[in-house]
Amino acid sequence: AFESISEIPPDPILNLSTLYKADDFEKKVDLGVGAYRDGEGKPWILPVVSKAENIVINRPGRNHEYLPVGGFKEFTTGAARIAFGEDSEVLNNGLVYSIQSISGTGSLSLGGMFLSRFYNSKNIFISKPTWVNHHDVFSAHGFEIGQYAYWDPIKKSLDFDGFVKSIREAPEGSVFVLHACAHNPTGVDPSKEQWAILADEIAKKKHFPFFDMAYQGYATGDLDNDAYAVRLFASRGFELLLAQSFAKNMGLYGERTGCLHILTNNKDATRRAGKQTEKCSRATVSTCPRYGAEIAGTILSSPELFDEWKQTLKQMSGRVLEMRHALRDRLVKLGTPGNWDHIVNQIGMFSFTGISYPNVQILVKKYHIYLADNGRISVAGLNHNNIDYVANSIHEVIST
Ligand code: PMP
Repeated sequence: AFESISEIPPDPILNLSTLYKADDFEKKVDLGVGAYRDGEGKPWILPVVSKAENIVINRPGRNHEYLPVGGFKEFTTGAARIAFGEDSEVLNNGLVYSIQSISGTGSLSLGGMFLSRFYNSKNIFISKPTWVNHHDVFSAHGFEIGQYAYWDPIKKSLDFDGFVKSIREAPEGSVFVLHACAHNPTGVDPSKEQWAILADEIAKKKHFPFFDMAYQGYATGDLDNDAYAVRLFASRGFELLLAQSFAKNMGLYGERTGCLHILTNNKDATRRAGKQTEKCSRATVSTCPRYGAEIAGTILSSPELFDEWKQTLKQMSGRVLEMRHALRDRLVKLGTPGNWDHIVNQIGMFSFTGISYPNVQILVKKYHIYLADNGRISVAGLNHNNIDYVANSIHEVIST
């Protein structure tokens, strides 16, 4: 039945991890996958996550029963609070329905499925560039994918005018996928003033915002700051979807812990939309995994653990920031051609270095430094042991 099936190229990012693991070069460096690494380059279990795990495992009457289709309540309620804010009007007015889903990807997909069934436009716009999977996730639900301008490669910053123009030119009522903070792959977010203008423009064209929040806490180290755009749109009376991931900010990558939030301007419509989305979820995964949700729910509902988590977010984002400065300073000191300030100006886990495709290939093949084809590096992969090797290698490749 499948003789004529076509070959697909390997996923560009996941393939980097495979190549990295198979490489036995001593000084190899993994700057590909967007996962936090500690100062020794190792995956890290947040201490607050270990504490929550202990509580979960030792909870009297613990079992492995199914979660309800909507998910683990303690988790979805806490997730909504950190997204929309402690004293959020839309939450207090019952306008948000929160459904547990399979991390950020599953939440985007579930939202896509819901919109494909109940929203009246099949046009969806994603940023150029964006996380590669946005293309596949939304085309799987029958959306016509367009791209809005985002990155100015010359200025190595946001192409704000282009972004506004794209909003104006898109067919009225299109879905706009917006990175809530710490844009992947560019590490460049609109300023607060720019978000206000974007909200005006999106409202004028009656577009539907679908926020993707995979890095809350990573942009500025502060959960409230990083939720600025989502809260701005919510306070302006927008109806919207929000896909929220706890992969990066709690280090729960493989536990697939996430949530989809549906905000409408009518309490009863919210409830009905939520129930329809649960039906979509039931048809795809039936119920979600409970372990990650129990851990995250425990952290979000305990004031003590919640405070500790917020400190840890500062620590993780602080280490990434330190590495940005370390890399920029070394390249400047070495006299590497070009301006490297964008490395410290960009935020979040990634830096869009501007290293060309041919130079990326040399770094991967000759220097065993694994980074994405588009020049994106995961700054979290840098540490005091490999920073000199990476800076010197970039310098050699670019100078020759
Ligand atoms: N959105 C963006 C922009 C991302 O970068 C990622 C992770 N790379 C995700 C969503 C989804 O991640 P996950 O499914 O692991 O939560």
